[in-house]
Amino acid sequence: MTSWRVTFMPVAETSLAWCAVMASRSCASGKMAIGFFFCGAFFVFSAILYLQWMVAVQQSKTHYGELSSREERWMENFVMHDILSRNSKTGRSVNVHSCCPSKLCPEFCYRFKRTKEQALAIERRCGFNPGANTGPVTWPVQVAAYKRNEETIKQAARECRLEELAIRLVQQMEGKEEDLRWCGTGDLFPELCELIAMYALLGRRHSFGFSRQPEMIKYLTELLDDMKVPVHRWPHIIGSVDESTEGETLRDLLIWTNELNGWPSLALATWKTGAELQQYLNSYTSIEVIFGIHSSQKKTKTGHHLACPATEGEKIKCVECRRCYGE
Ligand code: SF4
Repeated sequence: MTSWRVTFMPVAETSLAWCAVMASRSCASGKMAIGFFFCGAFFVFSAILYLQWMVAVQQSKTHYGELSSREERWMENFVMHDILSRNSKTGRSVNVHSCCPSKLCPEFCYRFKRTKEQALAIERRCGFNPGANTGPVTWPVQVAAYKRNEETIKQAARECRLEELAIRLVQQMEGKEEDLRWCGTGDLFPELCELIAMYALLGRRHSFGFSRQPEMIKYLTELLDDMKVPVHRWPHIIGSVDESTEGETLRDLLIWTNELNGWPSLALATWKTGAELQQYLNSYTSIEVIFGIHSSQKKTKTGHHLACPATEGEKIKCVECRRCYGE
């Protein structure tokens, strides 16, 4: 239908103009019968063109109407939820749901609820008891909030409203002592990387976080570069590793944290302590921080000088420690 109209309309318009010229010439030269013939043809072409124009207008109205009602529905349903969380240790953070677990994560991650019996079963499998884990971070209401945060970020990206979300975060962090932490739970995904880059571009504050995914750190680095964000405002993202991290992932994390941060940075989660840990660390070159595996019921005190003091049992906030800020 559309291609037919594309072909026919110019012909009809040309014929209409030609009929008008011929009718006026014929009438002017006294050839009234021919003049009436061209007048008739003129009206027929006018009627056809008018009808075509009406159909086109109607179709465009319907099309526009569908789009705008869909957009209205999006606007009605999409609430730009507040995605900023706060806790006494980390300060403000953006927590999401999806992550990129290593083979060991399901056994030890502090985000998963674990009973004493499950902890004992893990001990039988892995030789280490991580303790029961029942803290607020594992509660269903919190898990629902991580999912909602993630969906808010993805929906904002779909609607080209990430900038709005970034501005809101910039305003919320204005005047705060601490740096914003990304992925207090969860890991980077493309839309979150875009939000982080916008936050860096629009704000004046530094931010930091952790990721297991070199490809996401690479994507974030390239975004920051493309958006010409001043390097001093780039976020500091540390590559998370544990004993099960594959060699290739480890290599790429070193490469891309180096590109992003200016030096290769890794965070090691471990249950090793003392001399055993020291010996194990010989296989790494760029550990910036060590997290003794911890849960709501148990903290692994590694005794290492690079260990996070909070997971070693010290009552300290990130803003007081600042090791992971990349300063
Ligand atoms: S090492 Fe310091 S900055 Fe990093 S998580 Fe622990 S307390 Fe926070």
